[in-house]
Amino acid sequence: MLNTDLNQASIAILYIATGRYTVFWQHFYESAEKNLLRSNKKHYFVFTDDAALLNKSNLSNVTYIQQEKLGWPYDTLMRFEIFLSQKDKLKEYDFVFFFNANTEIVKEVTSKEFLPEKQDENLIFALQPHSFHKRIDKFTYDRNPESTAYIDYNSGKFYFTGALNGGRCQDYLNMCETLNKNTKIDLENNVIALWHDESHLNKYALNREDIKILPAYFTRGETEYWKKSAKIMFSDKSHFRFGGHAYLRSETNEKITENDWLKTKSLHKKRYAFRLKQYIKSFLL
Ligand code: UDP
Repeated sequence: MLNTDLNQASIAILYIATGRYTVFWQHFYESAEKNLLRSNKKHYFVFTDDAALLNKSNLSNVTYIQQEKLGWPYDTLMRFEIFLSQKDKLKEYDFVFFFNANTEIVKEVTSKEFLPEKQDENLIFALQPHSFHKRIDKFTYDRNPESTAYIDYNSGKFYFTGALNGGRCQDYLNMCETLNKNTKIDLENNVIALWHDESHLNKYALNREDIKILPAYFTRGETEYWKKSAKIMFSDKSHFRFGGHAYLRSETNEKITENDWLKTKSLHKKRYAFRLKQYIKSFLL
């Protein structure tokens, strides 16, 4: 695809919202319609077990696909198999992107900054907003040699988030095929990679030269208010307004209270050392 065509490229958006994660869907959809790749044709593939959504088809650019809640961590670990269930439909698009359910597009994201301008960039990955500044031996790659996601301590350069990634359609589908296979080999060996799909993704990225890496401050966590230039925000899943992360994942039926939530947050309020380390690292990437 020529660079001049990027505005015309068609985009398939993959979105998983099973169980309580449906709470995020409306925010994501509205923010993406407002701010994400405004001149491009976008279609949303929403994998959900929510009966109300599945019966609702009033949005012409959304396809709801029945997906049972698999239980944690399979809801996220099995994503590559879930995506591949739609591969024939996805092949109709130029690019495919996955967004975590708790994503909000908070500023306009243009095709020039989001899609690959270079012909040799096939995948588009984002750095993990909380840990891109770390030394490579501190990255939480999977260090278990039994897993297909294993990466040794001397390897790697970046730690990518599983929350946002995409690519040229066929390249993204190829990645899904490989990572689905790897996930299943692990399961046959009773192994689950440390950070599930994210560990597999980082293994796939290892030593690849064809990844467009979004800038360090392109994404931020909700509590990282100082990242003023960020265009994409991940809502705080631990927040009491969602009942807390374990509640969201249905690991518990008890919501956390505002007080419990405040206790966990007061530990690292300003986080100046963390901010300085990230600031310095952002120049070195
Ligand atoms: N997810 C889901 N239902 C669940 C758990 C997870 O739909 O019960 C999906 C959802 O798209 C979510 C993604 O899996 O954004 C990753 O899960 P989570 O955000 O809990 O994992 P983390 O990013 O914190 O590792």
